[in-house]
Amino acid sequence: MTTQPNATGDGLRPDEISAYSALEDRVRAGATMPLTMAAPRRGKPPRHWLDLTRDERRDAVRALGLPAFRADQISRHVFEHLDLDPSGWTDLPFADRTRVAEAFLPSLLTSVRPLSCDGGTTLKTLWRLFDGSLIESVLMRYGVPGIRASGSGRNRATLCISSQAGCGMACPFCATGQGGLQRNLSAAEILAQVVAGARSLRDGEIPGGPGRVNNIVFMGMGEPMANYKAIMATIRTLTAAAPHGLGISARGITVSTVGLVPRINQLATEGLPVTLAVSLHAPDDELRDELCPINTRWNVAELVDAAHGYFVATKRRVSIEYALIRDVNDQVERADLLGDVLRRHGGHGWVHVNLIPLNPTPGSKWTASRRRDEAAFVAALERRGVAVTVRDTRGREIDGACGQLAASVGAE
Ligand code: SAH
Repeated sequence: MTTQPNATGDGLRPDEISAYSALEDRVRAGATMPLTMAAPRRGKPPRHWLDLTRDERRDAVRALGLPAFRADQISRHVFEHLDLDPSGWTDLPFADRTRVAEAFLPSLLTSVRPLSCDGGTTLKTLWRLFDGSLIESVLMRYGVPGIRASGSGRNRATLCISSQAGCGMACPFCATGQGGLQRNLSAAEILAQVVAGARSLRDGEIPGGPGRVNNIVFMGMGEPMANYKAIMATIRTLTAAAPHGLGISARGITVSTVGLVPRINQLATEGLPVTLAVSLHAPDDELRDELCPINTRWNVAELVDAAHGYFVATKRRVSIEYALIRDVNDQVERADLLGDVLRRHGGHGWVHVNLIPLNPTPGSKWTASRRRDEAAFVAALERRGVAVTVRDTRGREIDGACGQLAASVGAE
């Protein structure tokens, strides 16, 4: 894996870039993978309708010599009908369909391998991008009557999407982290995952009848905060009302980060009530330095402060992600410390801990916690008054949302 510390990371200031390259040197000395903050310079994916803002769409249509009203027409096909293929758009003159397709709707994602489990209610798709990079998205439908594996509760669907091809954060327990960073995705490449998932649901391809995407989580491949500009453009289009966007509620969107503190602070100023998830995995710097190398740049106290600041600014309860790894981070003392760390920064009510049984990656020395250790960890947090749940393990047999599918196909 080569890193390019001089490459201009999305939205990174020069001082941040130099801090990152110094950090990379330090981490390189000890960790299996170097941290990579700045995405390598690679060919950009072609411009797509899904990359554009509403104003840019009007300009682009005019630049093509078409009347401005065509912009809304195209957007209706794309966002309302989830149709990215103009060949059947009968309200557009035949000759214009080809021009629109070529100018605005290049094919971005090719399905390589769809895999489903949980009675068909979990669908994972491996996508190939224009340059051969591989990413994945996972659609999970809950509460489907008659399918026990889909869980109980209300019928709803969550789509887990990738924000980068690979990831530069180098967390040693994560398959994606071990593969390094290939490149940032464009907004259109991120949104196209959503359009595809929304189509599958609408067209009744998932058991439970035609449905809609209720929740979007940036928990697929990549570190969304390291591709900040693209994920903000994505969120704005996800939340824009039809026909200018997908009309998904900001409250149903979760941005998950390993802890890029300046970006958490920036997100807090955007005025968007999206949910923030912070992948903490350890309450102490010594262990977190190892599990999440980014911790050597922004430590636990700084990260939890920023997370609390996000709650103060948005009133959205923050989710703390904690993968339970047997005999590594699952001791009761660590649960106690986690409770103390979270309460020190803002008392009760601002935060919720989501425990994830580790999904072991091939060749890893780590595995999931014992049942009794998991239960003791939960109990210790509850004693300290911290809200806690254990995440279900949907998609386990198809290597859930942890980059393993792309890793295994990439190795073929
Ligand atoms: N870069 C973002 C999104 C990553 S994936 C982030 O770090 O939050 C979403 C979650 O899956 C993160 O909490 C990540 O730490 C977790 N994860 C990664 N590999 C895992 C594994 N093998 N088992 C369980 N959870 C894992």
